[in-house]
Amino acid sequence: MDYRGREKKLAERLRAARLDACLVTHLPNIRYLCGFTGSAGVLAVAGSKLAFFTDGRYTTQARAEVKGARVVVGKRAALTEALAWLKRQRVRRLGFEAEHVPFALYRHLSGEAGKMRLVPMPGVIERLRMIKEREEVEQIRAAILLASGLFDHLLNTIKPGVKESDVAAELEHAARRDGAEGMSFETIVASGLRSALPHGRASAQPIQKNGFVILDFGVILAGYCSDMTRTIYVGAPGKRPTELYRAVLDAQLAAIASVSPGKTVGEVDQAARFRLQKAGLGRYFTHSTGHGVGLEIHEPPRVAKGQAEPLEPGMVITVEPGVYLPDEGGVRIEDVVVVTQNGCEVLTPTTKELIALE
Ligand code: ZN
Ligand code: ZN
Repeated sequence: MDYRGREKKLAERLRAARLDACLVTHLPNIRYLCGFTGSAGVLAVAGSKLAFFTDGRYTTQARAEVKGARVVVGKRAALTEALAWLKRQRVRRLGFEAEHVPFALYRHLSGEAGKMRLVPMPGVIERLRMIKEREEVEQIRAAILLASGLFDHLLNTIKPGVKESDVAAELEHAARRDGAEGMSFETIVASGLRSALPHGRASAQPIQKNGFVILDFGVILAGYCSDMTRTIYVGAPGKRPTELYRAVLDAQLAAIASVSPGKTVGEVDQAARFRLQKAGLGRYFTHSTGHGVGLEIHEPPRVAKGQAEPLEPGMVITVEPGVYLPDEGGVRIEDVVVVTQNGCEVLTPTTKELIALE
């Protein structure tokens, strides 16, 4: 991972925002900038100097993991130590991650900032994270391959009468066994009419014959998340379920085909939306088309209606249109793609043919 390059880019952004320094409190951003994977600490960046402050629980781990920053385990709280260090660097304008600072932390900050002026710095590090390094893309690919490898196993567990939560439990057990650090988010197993709930977490409902099952899950590997959705049919799908599935697949393929540098994320959303509208299903597509994925399961850019963010090589986004009909059920298909020099590469290898479990 190119910590040096990331630190240089951040220093440029700070200069452009006329900030002398910034205080990084959001853990995924800390990990991105200096490699620390623990759950407590703050990173202070003043020009080209970086110092990471944590407590005694993390002394060994921080010394082993942190790259490019001094590790400080002080007597006082990490935040207090960090502010004292920043004052010693003669910082006047201090950027902070307004989107990640709860009110109580802000009060603490402003109480101890002294003469330093606190300046909100929204999304600066997230913007750096949007463009993945080659090594990051490979980590995401590895997480995706692990998850898609579980899909076949998952199909064996789905039978009429089996509870959604049992399917999720099987999946999560297998994921751990195959080396996942955890799940990227709470596994979605939504069967029958529950498939019309875009975020139907696995419930105690038994899977019934003649209906869709939406499976949306992801694993974390080396800190990087995967995210995939497949919708299968239990029973023999009739004309209407097949039509719904075709329409969503058509929209998903159209959106993927539209991904290339120079296009905006809004255009990718529009490509999917337009196909579903043409199929008369536009009003059942009730969410955005996708999101960035990396150290967090949802990160910029938002692939949504009207968003003007241009696609750039190295961005990793999901493409996941869906339709949700309260009386018929829902269908969603989701892949992760990486933007390349002249288009995109689909990282999710799992088939998108409609799978019917008889
Ligand atoms: Zn998903
Ligand atoms: Zn997603």
